[in-house]
Amino acid sequence: MKELLQHAQHIVILTHMAPDGDAMGSALALYNRLNVPEAQLNAAEPQCKRAESASVSVIVPNAFPAFFNWMPGAERVHVYEKESAVCDDILAAADLFLCTDFNDPKRIGPVGEKMLANPCPKILIDHHLMDEGAKGLVDEGFWTEVHSHPEASSACEIVYKVLTSERLTSERLTEEVATCIYTGLMTDTGNFSYNSTRAELYDIIAALLRAGVQKDAIYNAVFNQYSEHRVRLTGYALYRKMRIYPEHHLALITLSADELEQYHYQVGDTEGLVNMPLQISDVYYSVFMREERAKPGTPKSRIRISFRSQGDRPVNIWAHEVFHGGGHANASGGELFGTIGQAVRLFEQTYKKYLK
Ligand code: 5GP
Ligand code: MN
Repeated sequence: MKELLQHAQHIVILTHMAPDGDAMGSALALYNRLNVPEAQLNAAEPQCKRAESASVSVIVPNAFPAFFNWMPGAERVHVYEKESAVCDDILAAADLFLCTDFNDPKRIGPVGEKMLANPCPKILIDHHLMDEGAKGLVDEGFWTEVHSHPEASSACEIVYKVLTSERLTSERLTEEVATCIYTGLMTDTGNFSYNSTRAELYDIIAALLRAGVQKDAIYNAVFNQYSEHRVRLTGYALYRKMRIYPEHHLALITLSADELEQYHYQVGDTEGLVNMPLQISDVYYSVFMREERAKPGTPKSRIRISFRSQGDRPVNIWAHEVFHGGGHANASGGELFGTIGQAVRLFEQTYKKYLK
């Protein structure tokens, strides 16, 4: 990676669709790290350094929530859905891809197709389990270098290790880089309430705090800057739209496109909603379905489905086999093209088979 970074002229950082804090954090940590002015680097250390003439770009497939606008470098992120022509040029000119927080080019839609069409070196930094397709890519040498650690809390944790490993650099992280890394650690662990029991994680947090991270301010920027509509939408979803299936300790929330519009839905407004039914003592599984209206020229709306569970109760096989998705054992996603009614019927026909 160190050598590839030194020789590349057009470095392009990619992360997954519907970017979350870990996607934004891991991509922007690399972006900011590669843009640290020479003067701030410790000359005695071997550097994670790009060529001075090199450009660094970040492309995300679609819009990220406004509550990440404050992140250092967020204003320079290219959103493929909004500026495809510019992004196509950047993707075609790339001579090094850094891919974070996903392992399957399918998870980045049209951006993945453009990446596949460009034969330059590609580095993967990720913490998701690999399905057969993703493993196949590794086996056939698609990635020049792979940092894949499903045991890690987040892609940001791996970015931290990559950036501070001896082979790259051991100089102090800048506050910007540390802030991006902290954001991914915080959001991917639900503010350190899951996937966060390893002591090493807190060693990393301590190092980030020493680099200047304002952790309480980051929490406030991400979790306490919602619109009134969003909070009322959450209330409506829990009060009127949550169904419980007591024998299976299962909860389901659905929100149609009409309902979302009624509450002036913005990207990110339902982030975290799927976790809320797990607050009920007898609920161990939670599913949330959100309707996205059909795009012009396509007949069916898309139902985006999130799955969560607690403990030794995997939901990823259900998400994979029934809803064309996958993910972690306790946090998965999938989709269905059709109506909410069809998605609920499929859900009701299959949950007994997949849940304990
Ligand atoms: P979310 O419910 O937050 O959209 O997704 C939760 C997790 O499920 C993500 O972190 C990701 O690991 C996984 N996931 C979501 N959608 C998909 C999908 O379509 N395919 C796969 N393989 N994983 C997904
Ligand atoms: Mn992640």
